[in-house]
Amino acid sequence: MAYELKEECGVFGVYGDPEAVTDAYWGIFSLQHRGQESAGIAAVDEQDPGRLVVRKGMGLVTEVLSPVLSQLPPAWSAIGHVRYSTSGESEVFNAQPLLMRTRFGQIALAHNGNVVNAQDLRRSLQAQGAVFQGTSDSEILAHLIARSAAEDLSGALVQAVTQLAGGFAFVVLSPDAVYGVRDPNGIRPLVVGEAESGQGHMLASETCALDAVRARFVREVEPGELVVLDSKGVSRLTAMGWSAVSPCAFESVYFARADSKIRGESAQMARRRLGGVLAAEAPAGADVVIGVPDSSLPHAMGYAEASHLPFDFGLVKNRYVGRTFIMPKQSERMRSVQLKLAAVPEVVRGKRLVLVDDSLVRGTNARYLIQLLRACGATQVHMRIASPPYTDPCYYGIDTSRATELAARTKSVEEIRQMIGADSLAYLSLDGLKRGLKGGGWCLACFGGGYPVPPTLEPVACVGREDDHD
Ligand code: SF4
Repeated sequence: MAYELKEECGVFGVYGDPEAVTDAYWGIFSLQHRGQESAGIAAVDEQDPGRLVVRKGMGLVTEVLSPVLSQLPPAWSAIGHVRYSTSGESEVFNAQPLLMRTRFGQIALAHNGNVVNAQDLRRSLQAQGAVFQGTSDSEILAHLIARSAAEDLSGALVQAVTQLAGGFAFVVLSPDAVYGVRDPNGIRPLVVGEAESGQGHMLASETCALDAVRARFVREVEPGELVVLDSKGVSRLTAMGWSAVSPCAFESVYFARADSKIRGESAQMARRRLGGVLAAEAPAGADVVIGVPDSSLPHAMGYAEASHLPFDFGLVKNRYVGRTFIMPKQSERMRSVQLKLAAVPEVVRGKRLVLVDDSLVRGTNARYLIQLLRACGATQVHMRIASPPYTDPCYYGIDTSRATELAARTKSVEEIRQMIGADSLAYLSLDGLKRGLKGGGWCLACFGGGYPVPPTLEPVACVGREDDHD
């Protein structure tokens, strides 16, 4: 099956702050974990308010934007974007924000997630004469806006977004406003914030971006809601409506930054609780609990607390390897793991270890880490996974793997245990995950929980964190 790759990303928007460009910079800087392939900012020129200026390129926020930040005009409104892609589509023309000229004037768009009916929409638009520069879903939205018969941009946006299906969040910059829209199931996150100074409102993929610009969290954008930030403050434009709320459970398990709040609770606390549930479900006779840094440390702490075992840092991460090693090929990923993670012999030598990871996708990371720990003298390694077996590909923007590469899709737990060389292996149950997360209705599709939105025929991938998984 062809593996079409798109991006899962981080978005940020600000309206009404004289430091909008700086806000956008720090906003996406704090969302860097959501994408390291490209970065960009679009701003409304304060001196020429009909003009939007974009600076974007391939690389990290600091690499791409620090040298050109001074080229962006003083602005009261701006949007920003970081993008991750796993293969050849990481060309610069897919970098965002995307700048388009429409009959409503210039607009800039950026998005996170995946529109599952993108192929149908693209074909239909091409049949109407639309020409596409790249493969981004933002470009589809831009063409839908341009072809809307609505009288104003707000109306065109409502008409355009109601044609989209999937898991996505868009931010759109116009000379007069910043818009934000979230998919009808609320699969991908988007939050509203207000500057502590009282000057300006923000939109962001995660609350950590609000904290970075000294904004307070106001609320989550509702599933299917289109919000507008403008001179009147924050207003709700009717958009798609919603029937079933299904926020991505994987955001809480792994993807979101630990200090970001999801449904009112930091991902850190949710992860500790998941570790505790895992310990109750799958205890292990061991001397010490260690986690795979950084993302699995809270799960490991929760496991240790609940099982009354000591927690220690048995693995350390080289934080300076960087995005060079976020590679699409398996061999490159392995090299990246080897360079990024090292064992602390004094912690693991002669010990029976519980090794906690937040997820197991292909199993190659786990196999390498267990070999490493044994080579450093661990007498036993009991692998514990703080999420259920990852059996189904994500169609809503998270890059996992081809379905055929998902270890749990074709192998039993015992077969995976043998493959990774652990003394024992256990996963958190689906019920345990539901109990460990606050609230209900989570998207659990990749854990066999059923797709909240019918997927396309081809899995569409995205996402990436610096501490990318196996
Ligand atoms: S399928 Fe999994 S990764 Fe994708 S949105 Fe649902 S919970 Fe998140």
